[in-house]
Amino acid sequence: MATGQHGCIFCGNKPLTKEHIWCQWITEYVSRTTNKYAFGHVVAHKKPEDNIERSSLRAGDPIGANVRVVCGPCNNEWMSQLQEKAKPHLIPLFKGETVWLKKSAQAAIADWIIMATMTAEYIQRDPSMIAISQTDRNKFFERKPLANWKVWIAPFQRKHWIGQWVHTSVPIYPSEDVPPLTSDGRPRPNAQNTTFVIGQLYAHAMNGPYPNIVHDWEWRGTERARHLLRQVFPTVYRDIAWPTSYLTDADAITFATAFNDYVSGLG
Ligand SMILES: [Zn+2]
Repeated sequence: MATGQHGCIFCGNKPLTKEHIWCQWITEYVSRTTNKYAFGHVVAHKKPEDNIERSSLRAGDPIGANVRVVCGPCNNEWMSQLQEKAKPHLIPLFKGETVWLKKSAQAAIADWIIMATMTAEYIQRDPSMIAISQTDRNKFFERKPLANWKVWIAPFQRKHWIGQWVHTSVPIYPSEDVPPLTSDGRPRPNAQNTTFVIGQLYAHAMNGPYPNIVHDWEWRGTERARHLLRQVFPTVYRDIAWPTSYLTDADAITFATAFNDYVSGLG
């Protein structure tokens, strides 16, 4: 089972290192002292009784979480390089500063969001929550272009919403297919949406098994998302003048779960 329990989730090698998903330069944008942040994981199944929902409140985590899922060479080489490339573009977004994001900056930001999304799926240490395929992680590791992924960003200043990390996944299979099952007998999720907030940056990444699901997903029924979110992967804008319009708490919540709500509504 390619869940990364035994080898690096990207290259398959051992041994694994105690990788900090978030480095020190990020933790200063997330309060670790007084606030408790919510981490939610939802797997939506066609039979509502099969749904899995887990959420927890933790101070600062997964900012300080050690997730032992990648090897030293991955962590210290390409992942570190990718992070260094994104960092100068991310910091102004965390701070809500005025910046001009060219295509190259958008691509660096998107890469970092995808890397965080892939790694953080393992925070729950529950294989039944993992929706991103080994093929996609291998492609990302080999720096090959990912198909069926989209990433959006928006500026956000939280008021009451305490969501820090929301991961939703859903199994989507053609009705004639027999879906692979998880160890607890449920269809294995193969599409996911991840939302996370760092400082004033709201990041949202989705991927799914079929091109039409991802490419035709136009935030149906969530009209405000079309106006407020800026797609950075695949890049569509030549430049983005930041900050764009700020999300409200209601937007932040709605956008995080919109795709799963839409898919589960299809019955
Ligand atoms: Zn590795």
